[in-house]
Amino acid sequence: MGIKVTVNHNRCVGSRLCVGFLPDAFKLNGQGQSELITTGGVNAEEFVQTAGQCPQSAIKVEDAETGEVLFPPAELEM
Ligand code: SF4
Repeated sequence: MGIKVTVNHNRCVGSRLCVGFLPDAFKLNGQGQSELITTGGVNAEEFVQTAGQCPQSAIKVEDAETGEVLFPPAELEM
């Protein structure tokens, strides 16, 4: 399954949790906010688990083909 991951910079506070969990996928940019490096080598479940740890619910994970939102659930939707 292709996955699309986006970080909402209106929400990210640079806590680095996502970088800690998935250092190959996320890095902090010059503004101290998380940016996606690549979705390669990381499966959807790992992204969903990491997105669930983000204190700001700033990470959105979607099925790239269907557009189905895998995270966040509707009640946390930004
Ligand atoms: S865990 Fe969330 S708030 Fe922390 S750096 Fe990652 S996206 Fe930003």
